[in-house]
Amino acid sequence: MKSSRRKFIAMAGFAALGWSVCPSLTRAATEAGPKLYFKEEGSLEASQWAMAIDTKKLDRQIMNKCIEACHTLHNVPDIDSDQNIKWIWIEPFRNLFYDQSHPNLKNKANQPFLTLCNHCDNPPCVRVCPTRATFRRPDGIVLMDFHRCIGCRFCMAGCPYGSRSFNFYDPRIYLENLSHEYPTRSKGVVEKCEFCAHRLDKGQMPACVEASEGALLFGDLNDSNSDVRKALRERYSLVRKPKLGTGPKVYYLI
Ligand code: SF4
Ligand code: SF4
Repeated sequence: MKSSRRKFIAMAGFAALGWSVCPSLTRAATEAGPKLYFKEEGSLEASQWAMAIDTKKLDRQIMNKCIEACHTLHNVPDIDSDQNIKWIWIEPFRNLFYDQSHPNLKNKANQPFLTLCNHCDNPPCVRVCPTRATFRRPDGIVLMDFHRCIGCRFCMAGCPYGSRSFNFYDPRIYLENLSHEYPTRSKGVVEKCEFCAHRLDKGQMPACVEASEGALLFGDLNDSNSDVRKALRERYSLVRKPKLGTGPKVYYLI
């Protein structure tokens, strides 16, 4: 089938599903959804995507830029309550790594770091989802199909990192400026960071990585020449709660 025709069929299928389906779901929603293909020329691919956060380069200004870039692009509402939505946010070091110690970690207890979904190798959020609204792609990205989410919040209970947020309110009424690059969500739906899968499909790096001034690295963990692998070879690194066996793919370079 010619690529233009294939693309048309994919677009028609997407339109039928409605605006709130994320295009990046379509590439590998093998069990969770319809098999539509949105892969574009020049899309970025990996056998295992991973992120490395260079804690020496993080400061408040850079972290705020990363959060702003992510939340603006993805229509993440800013709700002034403990039921706020967050895809990437700031936590002190002691909250993230209370179970680990190392001489290099002295004096870091109060230092603020970024945190987000770890896109785990063995994600409990996927195992407990009764509708397969959340699923792991072959390239390691853990995605959400917002249409399939029934709001049971089992995934939130399953995630040991607090990486998911539930929309207790209609998030749309909190959005002043709509981004047309990403669908909005509705009340009663869970959401989280998606490693910018829709940007990778267009050949772009994640928005937070672009905004980070080199503090966030992103690449294929199985490619020895990727920025992430090079950094992991050269620096000591940590992942959150390694004893749980979830296999986080967000590394902190110390
Ligand atoms: S960090 Fe939480 S939400 Fe993200 S993949 Fe792991 S278990 Fe799932
Ligand atoms: S990878 Fe994309 S979705 Fe995830 S925190 Fe960064 S900008 Fe947000």
